[in-house]
Amino acid sequence: MLPDARASAAQAEDVVRGTHDAAFAPVRSPYTPNAAGTQRWYRLVLDRDWNQPTSPVLSFTGAAYVPLTVYVPPDYRPQRLWFAQTAAVQRFSRHRLALELPHDLRAGQPVYVQVAADSFTRPIKPALADLATYQDEDLDHVRLATLFASVQFTMILAALCLWLLLRDRVLVYFIGYASFQLIYQMLVSGEIYQLPGGALLVPLGTHAPWLFAALSAPLSISFILEFCNLREITPRAARILGWMRWPFLVAIPLLCLPFAERTQWLASAYNLWFMLSSLWSLGTVLLAARHGRQARFFLIAWMPQVLFTFLRVCQVLLRLDQPRWLEYGFPFTMAFSSIVVTIGLADLSLRARRERDVAHHLADHDALTGVLNRRALLRRLHAAIAEANRQRAPLALLFLDMDHFKSVNDRYGHQAGDACLRAVAEAIADELRPSDWLGRYGGEEFVVCLPGATHEQAMAIGERIRHGIEHLHVHSRGCSLQTTISMGVASLQGDADTSDELIARADNALYRAKTDGRNRIVAHAPLPATVCKSA
Ligand code: GH3
Ligand code: MG
Ligand code: MG
Repeated sequence: MLPDARASAAQAEDVVRGTHDAAFAPVRSPYTPNAAGTQRWYRLVLDRDWNQPTSPVLSFTGAAYVPLTVYVPPDYRPQRLWFAQTAAVQRFSRHRLALELPHDLRAGQPVYVQVAADSFTRPIKPALADLATYQDEDLDHVRLATLFASVQFTMILAALCLWLLLRDRVLVYFIGYASFQLIYQMLVSGEIYQLPGGALLVPLGTHAPWLFAALSAPLSISFILEFCNLREITPRAARILGWMRWPFLVAIPLLCLPFAERTQWLASAYNLWFMLSSLWSLGTVLLAARHGRQARFFLIAWMPQVLFTFLRVCQVLLRLDQPRWLEYGFPFTMAFSSIVVTIGLADLSLRARRERDVAHHLADHDALTGVLNRRALLRRLHAAIAEANRQRAPLALLFLDMDHFKSVNDRYGHQAGDACLRAVAEAIADELRPSDWLGRYGGEEFVVCLPGATHEQAMAIGERIRHGIEHLHVHSRGCSLQTTISMGVASLQGDADTSDELIARADNALYRAKTDGRNRIVAHAPLPATVCKSA
């Protein structure tokens, strides 16, 4: 290594010409650290001639976002290795910054490396391997990195499909944070620059990973709050967690400013806040897990990621080499948590959908008998009349009222009365075709709509219903009771006929059925009033 004082002033031409060779001091550490604020020069030499079947590959681990310039014999032309670039032809992945050296590299023939000035000191580790071995390992890396990224990408797509169906906000938070996290992961691995559109990120340089991490963090907090239902289960801790999103939002524009990459305190403050908010999230989710199924689900998804983040922080703080299991463990846990969270989201969405379906059903159906309620039956009748007029098809309406129902309640009690109402509704529905429908108009009054039925057909159907109910035995609380119904029939008469008029005519006919003695069916005049059965 060239001492820093000389390195900062050294001209590249002088160094590669060997002018400073005598000043290079040996380095004992396996690392070639860069230095904050000043460039450094390294002179690498082999102690024996290269004799492997394939060329040597010089690679640097930990040099992401530190520009390196390598001067290789015989011509010592500068070759720039820089993580965020798209220009150079890529023979290798960006797992490491790597360069193929001449096959005939001899002992003592120097390779000069200039490490650019940077704001942070990083432990950069050079290594020499033969091309075949290096490419083998590199392909292994690409397979794993692609696998984890595609799993994450697939889960984002799955969430997007769920969102298109359900439009649930929690899915938007997941899609947002998982996408930014995926971009972050691909920025750190460097491959994103070679993908279509990746060139757009090149000008952001070192800012890019910070920016995407800062975009992902507040969305992930919003997701945790919503997914684990923290605002309801642990309201106070959730409120503080909600506030913890704001510094990230402030950090986003700050991290884009040009001075940000030279500001150590900004990075430290960001990391500290990230750790604090992660710990607070973890504590809140742990509290909520005692009461909430979703929080438990999230813990299963998130715990491996928390563990690996902790191990990675320890490894960085203790300045240890990053083992392979730790390097791939983190993207693995990210993919794992996406899978579990997506399953959790599907489960949540399914339950939400079921609840919504039940709410829709309840809004349109009568709670006691399960048939259409008055509001829904009037709406449907309106539509059925319009359709019948369009098709020039007949339509008939039956208005049914149970006879002496008050006395059923009085004699057997309201529960028996309810059972009777349910049994009658079921018996009416059993006589109908799929295109007919039944609604409860009020207390013990029902309306049957028969689209396509002529007056005669309606009378026949009505009579079948009346007959069925007359012979119906309702069992409730040990008693068996029987009941009868009276019915008025009205048919649609021309385009000008309305649902109100149709119901009024059927009601009139019903009134006549009642006054004529009940348990009978009467058609409205001007059609001949037809009495099918007298009690
Ligand atoms: P009519 O033959 O003239 O129709 O005599 P009615 O007793 O059936 O007529 P009325 O309208 O006087 O009484 C209707 C009764 O229906 C009154 C009410 O107690 C009963 N009823 C209405 N809704 C319900 C219900 O949901 N459950 C029960 N058990 N009874 C109901
Ligand atoms: Mg009645
Ligand atoms: Mg009544």
